[in-house]
Order: sequence, then C-alpha cells, then structure tokens
Amino acid sequence: MKQVGVHLLQSNATFDIEYTYLVDDTLVESGEIIRGSFVDVPFGVRKQLQTAVVWTIDKKIEDTDKKIKFKKIENISNIRAPLTESEMLLAEKMSSLYFCPISACIRCMVPPEAPKGRQVNYATLNITLEEVETLCDSGQLKNIVHIRILENLKAGRRRVSDLAKEIGCTAAVINTLAKRGYVKIEKDYCEQEDFVRDNKNGASLPTYNRHTLNAEQQTAYDFLWKLIEKQEFAECLLHGVTGSGKTEIYMQLISETIKDNGSALLLVPEISLTPQMTAHFKNRFGDNVAILHSRLSDKERNRHWNRIKNSEVSIAIGARSAIFAPFDNLRLIILDEEHEASYRSEDSAPRYHAAEIAEEIAKIKGATVIYGSATPRIETYYRALTGEIHHISLKNRANRTPLPQVEVIDMREERVVGNMDRLGIFSSQLKEELEKNYKNGKQTMLFVHRRGYAKQILCQSCGKTIKCVRCNMPMTYHEKGNRLICHHCGRTFLSPEVCPLCGSAAFEKRGLGTQKVVEELAKIFPEATILRMDTDTTSVRDGHEKLLAEFASGKAQFLVGTQMIAKGHDFPQVTLVGILSADSLINMPDYKAQERAFQLFTQMAGRAGRGNSIGKVIMQAYSVDDYAITAASSHDYEEFYRNEIVVREALRYPPFSSMCIIRFAGEDDRETYSIANAFCGKMKELCEQTVEILGPARADIPKVNNKYRWVITIKGDGREILTEFLRKFTENGRKFQNCGKVAVSINFHGR
Ligand code: ADP
Ligand code: ZN
Ligand code: ZN
Repeated sequence: MKQVGVHLLQSNATFDIEYTYLVDDTLVESGEIIRGSFVDVPFGVRKQLQTAVVWTIDKKIEDTDKKIKFKKIENISNIRAPLTESEMLLAEKMSSLYFCPISACIRCMVPPEAPKGRQVNYATLNITLEEVETLCDSGQLKNIVHIRILENLKAGRRRVSDLAKEIGCTAAVINTLAKRGYVKIEKDYCEQEDFVRDNKNGASLPTYNRHTLNAEQQTAYDFLWKLIEKQEFAECLLHGVTGSGKTEIYMQLISETIKDNGSALLLVPEISLTPQMTAHFKNRFGDNVAILHSRLSDKERNRHWNRIKNSEVSIAIGARSAIFAPFDNLRLIILDEEHEASYRSEDSAPRYHAAEIAEEIAKIKGATVIYGSATPRIETYYRALTGEIHHISLKNRANRTPLPQVEVIDMREERVVGNMDRLGIFSSQLKEELEKNYKNGKQTMLFVHRRGYAKQILCQSCGKTIKCVRCNMPMTYHEKGNRLICHHCGRTFLSPEVCPLCGSAAFEKRGLGTQKVVEELAKIFPEATILRMDTDTTSVRDGHEKLLAEFASGKAQFLVGTQMIAKGHDFPQVTLVGILSADSLINMPDYKAQERAFQLFTQMAGRAGRGNSIGKVIMQAYSVDDYAITAASSHDYEEFYRNEIVVREALRYPPFSSMCIIRFAGEDDRETYSIANAFCGKMKELCEQTVEILGPARADIPKVNNKYRWVITIKGDGREILTEFLRKFTENGRKFQNCGKVAVSINFHGR
C-alpha cells in the first residue's frame, strides 16, 4: 500500500487541504494512478464517495506514532484524463493568486459533463431536396404552412418546438408531415444547434476575404511572429485604433503558429462571439477550430473540449473560460479587446482575470500572449510604457477611411438657450443630424448608459457631480433619507440644497432609459424602424444575434442600446452615432469609471463610418471639459492616459497599488452589515503599515437579487502583500467562506 495526498473536487474553504488515502502499489506502478489522476474516495463519517484529484504520490507521513487508519481510494474516476503537470501548477498558482481553495481552481479545468438527461424531438427532411421542389411546385402541397416547414428544413435539422415557433404553427402540423412521410422526427439530447447553421434564417453571412497586410500591419506581424517563434514567455500589447485590421493579423499569426505545429487560442468578449465572427474563422481554418461559448449546450461544449484534448483541433476561439482549454502545445494566446470587463470572472470563485491566467499559462508553456485593443486598460498600457511587456501600435485604419469626426454638445448651454426638446433627450444639433442621416437613407446608433444603477446627482448648471473628498469618487444619491453616500469608504451626508460648487439648485437625479429614447425617436420618425438592444431585449436565446442581424440587414434605420451596441460590430451603413448621457458613465462610483467611459466612447465612435462614407459622432454632455470626453473626441488615447495616470497615482489606485475588495451579500441588511463590520474591525486591529483598510461601505450596486451588499476595500503595495495579510487574518491561511447566510467573496484589482 502507498499513501497518496488528494484534493477533493467539491470542497469549500473548510476542506481545502490535502487528505491522505491509501492505494495499491500496483496501481501506482502500472501508471494507472498518477499525479493528477481523478479518483473517487470515501469521505466523512458516512463515507460518501467524493471525486478527488491525486496531488502527491508516495506521501510521507511525518508523525508515525499516531496510528491513524487511512481509507482506501475506491476507484478511478472517468470525469476527465489526469490533470497535466502544467494544469496542476496553474491551479496552485491560481489558488495563491486569488486566495481561493485549490478545488475551485481545479473545477475550471474539468469539462462540462455530457448530459444524460432530457431528450427532445428533432425534425429532418425524409425526402430529397428535389422532391421538396416538385412537391411544392406541382401544387401537391396546398397548405402554405406545410411548404414553409419543408423549405425551412432544407437547410438541416431543427428542433420541432423551435421550428413550430418560428413558422407560427403547432407541433401537430409538423407531425402531419411526418405521417405523410415527408419529414422524419427523432428524439435526441437537447442541444444547441450548430452556431453558424443556426443563423441561416438571419442575414446571410459575409465571407471574410483574406487581406494582404499593409505596411503597418506587416511590421506588427513580423514583430509578433518573432516572439511566438522563440517559444519563450512573452507578452505584447497590440495597440491599434478601431478598424486598424487587428483581426487579419491574428488570423495570419494563428495560421503560421499551426503551420509550425503549435496551437493557438483566441479569446474574445462573449458578446462578440457572433455567428459572423465564428464564420470568418471557419471559412479560413475549416474544421481545425473549436468554438467555446456559454450558449452551447453542455454536450456541445464537452465535444469541443474533447476535440482539443485529443489534439483534433489546433485552434480554439472562446470567451473568458476558454482560457482553460486543454491544449497540449499552446504557443499563442490572444485576448482581443483586452479591456473588456467580461474577461473578469465575477460570479464564483476563483474570481480571476483571463489576462492573468493567460500570463501564468504562457509562463508555464513558454508561449506568447497578445493583448489587442484600441483602448487598452490603464494597467496594461502602464506595463507597456514601463517596458514590462512589449508594445506595438497601429495608428491607421486598414481600409483608409478616416476616423469619424466627434462633436461634443455642451448641454449646459443647450438648456440655457432652450434648445432641448421637451424631455431633454435630443439637442437641436443631434436632432438635425438624425434627420439628415435618416433622409440620406443611412443608419444611426444611439447609446444610452445602462440602467439599474443607483442614482447619480448632477448639477445642470456647472455640470459637476459631488465627490467624496476622501476617495474622489462621485457620491450616490439615496432617496431614502435624502442622502449622498460614498460607495467606496462609506462617508455620507445629507444631500445639499444647492450645488456646493456653483450655488445652483438645479440638480438632476435621474438617468435615461433606452425605452424612453425609442419612444421619443418614434415621435420624430413615425415611419422609421427602430430597434432596441439592452438586457431586456436580449435575454431570450440568441436575442442579441437576431437583433444585430436585423440591423445589419438594413431593414431598421435606428438602433438604440446600452453598452452592448458598442462592441466590435461592423455595420458599414452606420454613419451617425449619438451618445446621449455621457456624464452618467463618467460619474459611476468606481475607480475605473473614467477608463470605462473613455473606452466606451471610443468604441461607440468606432462604429461610425466604417463603410465608404465618413462617420459622425455626437456626444451630449454636461461636463464637457472632462478628460474622458475631450480625449475621446480627439481620438487621443495618450491624452486620456496622461490625465488618468496622475489621478491613479495620487489616489493610490492600480497600477500604483493592489486592491482587494471583500464583498458581503445577504438578505438581511443589518446582519450583512454587522458581519462586514466585524470583519473590518478585526482587520483593522491586525492591520500593519503595509495595508490600508477602507469600509465597510455599501457596494456600488447596493442591492442585487434582494441581497444587500457591503464591501471592505484593502489596499497594499502588491498582490502578495495583500494575500499575505489575508493569510494572517484567516486562521492557518484557511480561505474565506460564507458566514451563515451572508455570502463572502473576494475580488482583486491590480497586480
Ligand atoms: P480592428 O479589429 O482592428 O478594429 P478589423 O480587423 O475589424 O479591425 O478590420 C477593419 C476592417 O479593415 C475590416 O473590414 C477588414 O476586412 C479590413 N482590413 C483588414 N486588413 C486590411 C488590409 N490589409 N487592407 C484592406 N482592408 C483591410
Ligand atoms: Zn453646480
Ligand atoms: Zn469616500
């Protein structure tokens, strides 16, 4: 018998230790059980079987006096092949980087289970395509619904319920066609149909022509390929203006990497994993691509995961969690739009950033990481400027269309001269441009900041918001008690009657919703087709693809939406972009508010004039001299960076510190607060010079899903100092866990 150490797969913080089990020598000698093997072990008093991973083979037990009787490993689990040494290293690294149980890190590397469950009916044609034609043309089929069903099935298999819904008939009608022998109905596991095929009813997918790289692209390509070729760890920022043709560079680098027998991983924000994007890659690389995103069924994801694991494909495209794709010889990792917030995992531990994981994997494997963006994160740019990572830029658009002209409308003046419409939505200039664009038969996009946040207060006279003197964060208005609260440090006072900066009493306490804008737009353009895109309209499956396809088809003249519409879409007919509430973005209570605002403005502006005509952008704002607005209006990332980095340094935000945000969420506000407060008190007692503790304060979104949220913020000079402090704070370095009904979670910012 040998002693081995294992980690339980489903453990929480309490059980986050290596447990010792016994295993037959032969199983180890034959290599059936190795480091990384998944096994089932009896656990606890009831000896229930639990899946675990073998972490140490031949574990030496130091205290041999105690006669502890260890249990035996029950059997080898088939949930996946053993973890590789690289994966185990990564899990250990993540566990210390994010101060979370190692099991949570291992769970990121386990493929989604192929479902055993639900089967549904699928319909396919039981006759040839020619027979469908004859049936329909000869008049044998008289019912138009029958004809439409057969026409639809020509493109391939459909779920009966989906098909019925689309045609607007009942499943019985499809059954009738089955009885007549035209259609075959079979049961199968419920799965998402193939993504590209799924879009067949939408707009036809444009083919993506291979471009010969222009000089600027070629220089970037050569530089990057030299890094990849070396097979040593390297990171590079690819800083290219919107439309500079980064995708073509990615494709050619990927192509060269696989020619050289390497594998490549392209991460994109979930929202840009459109059928259009995946079609481009399928066109270029055929079956050599695995696509991983959250809307695939578990069965599909399991299939793609296995194709990667079995080296059947050498390219994967996916959203955040695809970073854990089990490639063997990964040589290139690309994070497109690296500034996107969706690269941060927020919902469950480990709350990681995909860029950090990419960096760790690349270190282990000797791979290159490319961070692509027109508006990189301040942290990334800082690393590039300080020479920590490589840096290459593309200053021109690939197809030579100039960047759009951006006009900033000063809403303070507009109000004074009475130029606003009744609700203060459209300024006279914007209205004029809307009319002109509509008359010219072009498309317009209008951006409104997402709803659902706490109310902000904005002086309509001077355009300023009231900020916390301690944190420089905008204070948030709370109707209850008529108070202003800093969501960072918790400072609060009664909302003043007049603006402390200019003396005016003209405070605005409301945001603007997408729905309202659509209504107002419809009044001006009663004939127009207006699409709305926000979380309400896209919560149905494929909702956002359908909307985008509809807009791309040119049937609608206006698209009104939240940040969702800003991302990477290429609509050549859009020549006007309106940004309606620039201030509300800038005034978010978050140290990254300016950065996000600048990124969004730039992305939005990048939507205009991508085709042959020059685009125009109109930004309506009160705080017109805010640097996020001025820099975005002159397409000047450097200007933005120069201003922002000063603020970060002065207030000790990342990259000049590392921050840890501990969040408490519970149904009972008082209980949640008191637990957060107890934590905070203990921390402050233990606190040394190395860390600074702020809070407890209400979270920037104070209540989500009926749970009240409080936060403690810890600042320190580097991640390790913070995790060291947390280790000291929690007994024996045990990780955090929930306190009764209050959920505790940790999020790190900054390195
Ligand atoms: P980015 O991702 O950098 O914003 P894209 O990759 O979407 O830019 O490219 C913008 C447009 O330029 C696309 O329509 C693309 O087809 C086109 N393009 C890319 N490379 C070239 C090139 N070398 N010559 C001409 N057009 C190009
Ligand atoms: Zn004022
Ligand atoms: Zn504060």
